[in-house]
Amino acid sequence: MTVYNEIITTLQKSPYKLTPQRETIVKVLVDRKEEHLSAEELYFILKEISPDIGLATVYRTLDIFYDLKILEKITFGNGIAKYHLRQKMTIGMHHHLICTKCHNISTVSNEIFNKLIKYLNQEYNFEVQDNTIAIYGTCKDCQGEEIK
Ligand SMILES: [Zn+2]
Ligand SMILES: [Zn+2]
Repeated sequence: MTVYNEIITTLQKSPYKLTPQRETIVKVLVDRKEEHLSAEELYFILKEISPDIGLATVYRTLDIFYDLKILEKITFGNGIAKYHLRQKMTIGMHHHLICTKCHNISTVSNEIFNKLIKYLNQEYNFEVQDNTIAIYGTCKDCQGEEIK
């Protein structure tokens, strides 16, 4: 089963309706599974495909998809959230390095993080949510700006 079909099935089994707009949103999310998109970014992409779509619909759909565990959400201190498909549905786990200045997200895939998750689970009986770790800091580009 493709990721797209898997999501459609999840929606069909849920109490939420599968509307044509929601189908379009699923398509875009699958096409851009490598990216981390905010509701606004997703909205501008969707506008090109389906000009009638409203920002409120995008927000609501993202909330529903998050509820249904279709999406993972990466939140910033300032209330901005970015989304991507739940990693269990796609190949390869990654974790997030989040720049608090420019809001750029870099991804890291390293065994050390999986070891850390295992350690937290064993030593603290703490289940890490969605297997993702977000580390906040200042990216290379923004560090450069500070020196100037
Ligand atoms: Zn990610
Ligand atoms: Zn930065």
